[in-house]
Amino acid sequence: MATTQTSLSHVWPLGSTLDAHGVLQLGGCDARALAREFGTPAYIVAEDDLRTRARRFVEAFKARTPDFEVHFASKSFPATAVLRLFAEEGLAVDVASGGELHLALNAGFDPRKIHLHGNAKSAHELQQALDARIGDIVVDNLVELDRLTALIPAGGRQRILLRIAPGVSPDTHPKISTGGPNTKFGFNLDDARQAIAIAQKSDKLDLDGLHFHIGSQILDLAPFRAALESVLTLGDFRTYNMGGGLGVAYTRDVTAPDIEDYVDRKVGLLHELLGPNKRIADEPGRALVAHSTVTLYEVQSVKHNVVTYVATDGGMSDNLRPMLYDAKYEAMVVGRPNESHATQPVHLAGKHCESSDILIHDVELPDPRPGDLIAVPVTGAYGYAMANNYNGQPRPPIVFVSNGNARTVVRRETYEDLTRRDVE
Ligand SMILES: *Cc1c(COP(=O)(O)O)cnc(C)c1O
Repeated sequence: MATTQTSLSHVWPLGSTLDAHGVLQLGGCDARALAREFGTPAYIVAEDDLRTRARRFVEAFKARTPDFEVHFASKSFPATAVLRLFAEEGLAVDVASGGELHLALNAGFDPRKIHLHGNAKSAHELQQALDARIGDIVVDNLVELDRLTALIPAGGRQRILLRIAPGVSPDTHPKISTGGPNTKFGFNLDDARQAIAIAQKSDKLDLDGLHFHIGSQILDLAPFRAALESVLTLGDFRTYNMGGGLGVAYTRDVTAPDIEDYVDRKVGLLHELLGPNKRIADEPGRALVAHSTVTLYEVQSVKHNVVTYVATDGGMSDNLRPMLYDAKYEAMVVGRPNESHATQPVHLAGKHCESSDILIHDVELPDPRPGDLIAVPVTGAYGYAMANNYNGQPRPPIVFVSNGNARTVVRRETYEDLTRRDVE
């Protein structure tokens, strides 16, 4: 007997509902109809969710401080349609490579709103940034400082920030902690003093401020204070960029800080420790894009071993995070919501030739069967970004949904795409 429940937990994209038969609706589109039209696996992106979160970041800063810039950390979802949407919303953008710089320019970002990161920028990438006349280059190390200075022509100037490793480790997975004492990212405090002296003497470098990014999927905001306190010992600058990192709830039992709480904490700290007149930049990636997306899969096989394996038509080729970071997700059998059916724990597996290709361990699902449609929420961040062709799997399409309309913004790869770069 179908239920008439129409609300879902906070992990699903804004605007998601269950219809009278318990069938998932995303952006006003029926998940089963989406699977029929676009195939599986597919990334279904609720466009209004992306826009709403972008606006919440901007409004939260606007309400608290006069001089700020919100940068989309593009590595989290580097699709042109996503980049273009955030450009339309007035955001700036962070890129971490020449390829991401190309994507941001191609999507129409004003070059002055593009900021280049990276711990191993090549001379070619630095030249590319200079040629495009981007906003800031966030310099990571002394070698890069020399390399950049040498590339700037006589009479030219480039605005830079210095990336500092403040020696603070937030409580997150070690593989996404980036601000600790032994990180590969940024200057330690001693090298930073040297870099500041060099930059301040240079007639080619315009040292605008300091940057730090202590890690990702941060659910406890406390470490931002220690990080900011530690960089204060380096002097007084115009701009402070405290990175991104706001965590999100991947499963319904988790609550993440609100965007407003996170902005309030960061702006409050800066006002408290440095006064109200600094320029603040923030670089959310995950918190902008994670909740927008649901991945749809079709169950291909069910196997009862010691545990039950429910194998889908996707896996580590569309979502590496479970494998890389032990990331946890939840899932739904479309049309058979957990709330109205008896469930059992199963391993939701991928189709790839690796034992560790398990999308979700011990997820409670109601009797999944071959042919069932499975929806996995919160896959917008670092899913498409890290998608790959392992086992010759064509990467899934990206489908935007809004107000009952669905459109492909990135098509599914074809088998021809798999051989397109062959020269022999
Ligand atoms: C990855 C990254 C971000 C974004 O991190 P999220 O956790 O996705 O918000 C921001 N800044 C820098 C420098 C990064 O490397």
